[in-house]
Amino acid sequence: MKRKPVNSSRMPIYRDAGFELFDAETTKNAFSRETENERIPDLYIYSRYRNPTVIAAEEEIMKLEGCRWALLTQSGMSAIDTAVSVFQRAESARPWLFFSEIYGGTISYTDSVLRKRRGLRIHNFHPADEKYDLAELELVMKDIKPELIYIEAISNPMLIVTDIEAVTALAHKSGSRVIVDNTFATPALCRPLESGADIVIHSATKYFSGHGNITAGVLCGNDTALMKDSIEYRKFVGHMISPDDAYRLNTQIQTFELRFREQCMNAVMVTEVLKNHPSVRKVWYPGLTEHPTHKEALKLFTGKGFGAMVTFDFSGSSDQEKKQKRDVFVRAVSETIKIIPSLGDPRTIMMPVESVWGAKFPEPGIIRLSVGFESPLKLKKIITEALDKTV
Ligand code: PLP
Repeated sequence: MKRKPVNSSRMPIYRDAGFELFDAETTKNAFSRETENERIPDLYIYSRYRNPTVIAAEEEIMKLEGCRWALLTQSGMSAIDTAVSVFQRAESARPWLFFSEIYGGTISYTDSVLRKRRGLRIHNFHPADEKYDLAELELVMKDIKPELIYIEAISNPMLIVTDIEAVTALAHKSGSRVIVDNTFATPALCRPLESGADIVIHSATKYFSGHGNITAGVLCGNDTALMKDSIEYRKFVGHMISPDDAYRLNTQIQTFELRFREQCMNAVMVTEVLKNHPSVRKVWYPGLTEHPTHKEALKLFTGKGFGAMVTFDFSGSSDQEKKQKRDVFVRAVSETIKIIPSLGDPRTIMMPVESVWGAKFPEPGIIRLSVGFESPLKLKKIITEALDKTV
């Protein structure tokens, strides 16, 4: 990077595929230090390796997660692929343990890529009564001695909160490493690295970008050896985010805390509306005292909030009746609350759970809401009026 031609206060978009290296000595220096993650302007080599616009966005995420390094990738899935792959060793036959209530795409990745193609031994740890039993986890760990444990801070779609500190303590006792997907909780609620996790990943497509218009991922950590391995893996498989997307992410992430705070407050309001309506059988929200992991949420989030995802089920004496109520609701809100298979958007969006997860969650009345930061009064009116149509 030469001197900036204008005095811009933000990092511009450097679209260079390859950067100019001034002489042979600098070239040698740059190549010998490519996994150091330094910010020395003369030592950028090639944008698939590292890029100054990408690094500027990574620094914002480091501040949020309170970590020593963050590496952006072109999607949440590529962040997951990078995070798990740096623990893979040809000589190790120890299994990997994935908590089973995680993003469906991650489960499919463990089946199609890790198990079927790479031949890894993948175990799943299932919740019982909508929470994870850590005494049971301890027994499983003694039995299978996993190399790696993979969890989500808030799970999808039943919003199970896991005591990350307890899991990492168990894991480290038996030499296992821990990856936490913090997409739903975000660092506004918890920083799993401070609870002992080895790597935290995010689908930055969600709350970090926050406008439903960027696909990106990030992995974060403190361990320098893991950083170097991750930089190397990202480079070899080409999981790098584009400078343009990094620039836009860096702009949109400036409002992350503000947006997420409003979204969490709206989620509490929506939960109240749903809970008090006769058409609704059950609401899952970690902020509710009756949620099976409310205690874990209080411990992990220390009163900062409970997230902005709310799942609920319609009442009915048959599946047919529940499905009918769901469809009336979906039609009634369709002008404002759309079915969009994502989360973290500015406006409230929804997913009919059975249509997406099928056999895993066959209940036809369940809807998962990603609550937005639109006007709470308007949102309350839209949801109340739609629920009233289902009576
Ligand atoms: N993790 C969670 C919790 C998700 O919900 C998703 C996507 O929905 C991902 C990871 C994958 O992220 P992406 O779609 O950005 O690849």
